[in-house]
Amino acid sequence: MIRGQALTAAIYADYQASTPMDPRVAEQLGRYFAEQSANPHSEEHAFGWRAAEQLRTASEQIAQQLNCDPDEIIFTSGATEANNLALLGLAAHNTAQRRRVIVSAVEHKSVLAAARATQHYGCTVEILPVNSEGIIALDRLENLLDDDVLAVSVMTVNNEVGSIQPVGAIAALCEKYGCWFHTDAAQALACENSLLTHLPRASLISLSAHKIYGPQGIGVLYAERIVQKHMQPVIHGGGQQANLRSGTVPVPLCRSFADALALMHGPAASCERDRIRKLRDSFVAHILTLDGVKLNGPPLADRHPGNANLCFTGLHAKDLLQNLQPAVAASTGAACTSGAPEPSHALLAMGLSHDDAESAIRFSLGRFTTEVDVHRLFELVSSAVRHTRTQDEFERGLLVSTP
Ligand code: PMP
Repeated sequence: MIRGQALTAAIYADYQASTPMDPRVAEQLGRYFAEQSANPHSEEHAFGWRAAEQLRTASEQIAQQLNCDPDEIIFTSGATEANNLALLGLAAHNTAQRRRVIVSAVEHKSVLAAARATQHYGCTVEILPVNSEGIIALDRLENLLDDDVLAVSVMTVNNEVGSIQPVGAIAALCEKYGCWFHTDAAQALACENSLLTHLPRASLISLSAHKIYGPQGIGVLYAERIVQKHMQPVIHGGGQQANLRSGTVPVPLCRSFADALALMHGPAASCERDRIRKLRDSFVAHILTLDGVKLNGPPLADRHPGNANLCFTGLHAKDLLQNLQPAVAASTGAACTSGAPEPSHALLAMGLSHDDAESAIRFSLGRFTTEVDVHRLFELVSSAVRHTRTQDEFERGLLVSTP
């Protein structure tokens, strides 16, 4: 198979893994790179000043969208780094000698692993359970909070089942108990306009451009001015970005982040979310008519508009996905630890059995998904389900081929 050729006809249903770049953003980005000529931290010449000015403008635009100040925007390589900086940055400083870090059970691995790494600074990590919809219980969180809690990290929108956490109420609880609240909002901007106005209630917020039709390799940690005084850098060097994240800031990528973010706002963005939601609802309505297919996570109306996480009972998601290649891009939440694939920790935390979690596939739709795509996606998935079931039955010797 010639991969490039096969992919032109393929259906991309993996927007929560990475959104294709919006052509408007890509075109501008090309221009930014073409005109980029200096290090924004070169203070001795006009080329550097111009780059610094462009960077300042990008920070201002992003800050305006996020309802915060430009000096509260720290550019990172993505949400993974932002999550690491948030949790490890607090733990490394920690002069208050608070020792407990609380994270939800459905966090992205970059939060779970970073939280685990705070143990090097003497912290202990506690995992906050979730219900079958992937949502934490506020009373359970409050029971855990005391003056020994350094930070709470609960994602705004889950990447696997799209559930939306009560971040406003979590922020209020954290304020009451004097601990920092970090939220991984990498998936939030595709979700609701109103989430953006709630976001600044957290002291630390992680974002990523490649979840909002921007380029890969650039993210943001929003860090409230006051929390910055309580953090240490994870990456050491020239002291850029208030010494919280050393390294030359990639001006074209930052400008592009601002462009992509601007397109997530306003009436057109709301219409887009409604359109995606309708497509997703129609896909789910059709796919649930197949035998053994179940929806995982919260009701459709209460989740990320493009997300559909489904169990294909009795099948292995990886076999089904393999049979969908190269026609359909979707994902399992499986992680590969020491060479052995394990089902999604998030689905297990929501109470799914090991077998059900192993049968789950996340389809995620977005800006460029069309009605024709959704129709075709349904046809391709139903035929792959039939094919995989037949394969399975053969393998288990249930079907005997005639000689
Ligand atoms: N957090 C969440 C919720 C995500 O979905 C992702 C991307 N899969 C990340 C963090 C990591 O983001 P990045 O690829 O920008 O490091």
